[in-house]
Amino acid sequence: MSDSLAPESPTVRAFDATVTRVDGRSVVLDETYFYPEGGGQPADRGVLGGVAVEHVRSEADGTIVHDLAADPDFGVGDEVTGVVDDDFRTYCMRAHTASHVLYGAGRRIFDDLGYGGFDISAEKVRVDFETSTEVDDDALVELERLVNRAVWDSREVSWEEIPVSEAREREEIAFNVKTEEGVFAESETVRVVSIDGWDWAACGGTHVSNTVEIGSVEVLGRSNPGEGLTRVEFAVGASAIDRRAAVRTSAYEAARALGTNLDGLGESAATVAAAREELESELADLKSEVLRSRLADFETVERDGLTWRVGAVSGFDANEVGDAAKEARDGADVVVAVGESDTPFVVVASAGDAAAGDVVAEVTGEFGGGGGGGPTFAQGGGLGAPADEVLAYLRD
Ligand SMILES: [Zn+2]
Repeated sequence: MSDSLAPESPTVRAFDATVTRVDGRSVVLDETYFYPEGGGQPADRGVLGGVAVEHVRSEADGTIVHDLAADPDFGVGDEVTGVVDDDFRTYCMRAHTASHVLYGAGRRIFDDLGYGGFDISAEKVRVDFETSTEVDDDALVELERLVNRAVWDSREVSWEEIPVSEAREREEIAFNVKTEEGVFAESETVRVVSIDGWDWAACGGTHVSNTVEIGSVEVLGRSNPGEGLTRVEFAVGASAIDRRAAVRTSAYEAARALGTNLDGLGESAATVAAAREELESELADLKSEVLRSRLADFETVERDGLTWRVGAVSGFDANEVGDAAKEARDGADVVVAVGESDTPFVVVASAGDAAAGDVVAEVTGEFGGGGGGGPTFAQGGGLGAPADEVLAYLRD
């Protein structure tokens, strides 16, 4: 037969049925309460005739096939007992219904909303919203708040088959265009799942009968899987509870580090970030002042009729020294700064009469390392000698 009885009777966990086909480990029954993978909901797990069920799937003609973990010791015509794994199915029902509640929350805060699909895994659920609204942190918080509020409000969940034409006329019904267009072409009715006063969706999955059964819902984050799509991921059940504890632990840690409490956390963090930015800017000013004065104190040497200023600096990186050297050429034809660090570097700024690139090439030729540049500016790094040795060479 086709069509699982699971969506209509999602609370049934054990049933008897007659075997109509056995093909190796693949078994077909005259009726089944196992849910086959589809529409974003994973296949049920469980046991059939004493053998573990590994997968449940729909064939192209709708026939539901149970793939077993071992060869069955029953055959066509036998009556067998099927047991649907309660934990996993209950999780799927709660997670699946939560996705409808989340979409209903989206209806209340997003513009131009369309349904972009959803998917349940053992740890989390994702819902794709088609919307022009930018889903920022505030929107995520509001989504989570509205979802948990709808759970607390204990809204009834119901399902019914209605004619496709009627469903199409009811603007409030959300359709998963990607997965359902094909189905509509062959079927005259569509199954509509309603959450009282909150959400209406064409859906063939398994759901709880009241939103309060969902329990707590924790939004995990958002991403953009494609143009105009916003993906929101959330958790229910054990993973939601663990996630909430983890977030709370981080928040307490942050508050403790900042010497405040959770209520004051945002303000404290903003104050610290602003103070840090100001200090970094002051430090940068001070460092460049120190660097300028170091370069001004460089020893002057005459080489090939040109005035060179040569010296060593420490505590600065090559880019900082390079910027300062370009400005420090006043009164000198060439400025050469050797940076003291684990791997010494050399920076050369020149008026052009002695090409900066040639000077760097000469130094790296003598001491190793690499680098390069043009006539007015060049730098090299990874020199294989300490700075004073490089300086002594340059002063010669
Ligand atoms: Zn559904």
